[in-house]
Amino acid sequence: MARATLTIDLDAVQANWRALDALSGPATATAAVVKADAYGCGAARVAPALMRAGCRHFFVALAEEGAELRAALGAGPEIFVLSGPMAGDAPLLREHALIPVVNSEEQLARHRAELAGQPYAVQLDTGMNRLGMDGLSLARAALGLNMARPRLVLSHLACADSPAHPMNAAQLAAFAAMAMALPGVPRSLAATGGILMGPAFHFEMTRPGIGIYGGLPFAGARPVVSLALPVLQLRDVMPGQTVGYGAAWTAERPSRVAILAAGYADGLMRALGGRACAFAAGRPCPVIGRVSMDMIAIDATGIDPMPATVEILGPHQGIDALAEAAGTIGYEILTALGSRYARHYKGGEG
Ligand SMILES: *Cc1c(COP(=O)(O)O)cnc(C)c1O
Repeated sequence: MARATLTIDLDAVQANWRALDALSGPATATAAVVKADAYGCGAARVAPALMRAGCRHFFVALAEEGAELRAALGAGPEIFVLSGPMAGDAPLLREHALIPVVNSEEQLARHRAELAGQPYAVQLDTGMNRLGMDGLSLARAALGLNMARPRLVLSHLACADSPAHPMNAAQLAAFAAMAMALPGVPRSLAATGGILMGPAFHFEMTRPGIGIYGGLPFAGARPVVSLALPVLQLRDVMPGQTVGYGAAWTAERPSRVAILAAGYADGLMRALGGRACAFAAGRPCPVIGRVSMDMIAIDATGIDPMPATVEILGPHQGIDALAEAAGTIGYEILTALGSRYARHYKGGEG
């Protein structure tokens, strides 16, 4: 079989969520962010596993993602839609009992007009300048917000992966002060990085994403994904011969080259060429030349016998190590993982 196998360890997903949940006190609920198909890991499998681990609050980016998630989870758990009520979303939000996160006065007006009486949350901007109401909008809207009390008030940290960054303390102070305009409404500020910064950031709900999927900044996470690429062909290359597009790699010695069955169409970005390794029987083999759409070449000289598959993500190289080779972050490695892989889920029952 030429299809590469992506294995998703649902036991690790559950363990990571439980570990993040254990970092906050019993008065703090731990949600799970499962936007972008659970960071590429498959929300239809990941979210029910998180529910079995005790999670009752989920966040997605889009109303459409929320509708799919509702089908996977059934009635009961709260599903928040971070992008808020956009034009045309009302029927979907209502039908699937989704909770839109209102990010502006305009969205608040839309919610009142199209979803009056339905639950909603409010996002405040505390300095990131992405989504959320600023102080002035909040002041204008506070009376109305307190009459139809939101389920949650949230904000998002811009620099939570750098705990010493002064933005964190500034946003914490701004959030605590702004949330006082909505007395009694549960508050949420921390994603993965914020959880790790300690109890002052936890409030009544945390919203981890990447840590659940085994990525930094949660250094203690268990790896979730592994990716094994079949060897399509082995070839011997003489000194002076080149490999791949652009003849970008030239053999300097007699070399054994293995051609692997995945490429940039599968999320193994072109930037990995000449910079990353794959692991054959635990031994590092440099990715040589250019990454093709469906193939990658590695220098497997001296690997004997050559295994049938090679690891590009797994115990020897996690998402953050591969991300570093590509000049990106673990989040992008995960969400880029393609749809062509044979997906294998393990564990997740307990
Ligand atoms: C994506 C996202 C999260 C999760 O962030 P991680 O860094 O993956 O833990 C939480 N809150 C909001 C608003 C987000 O957009």
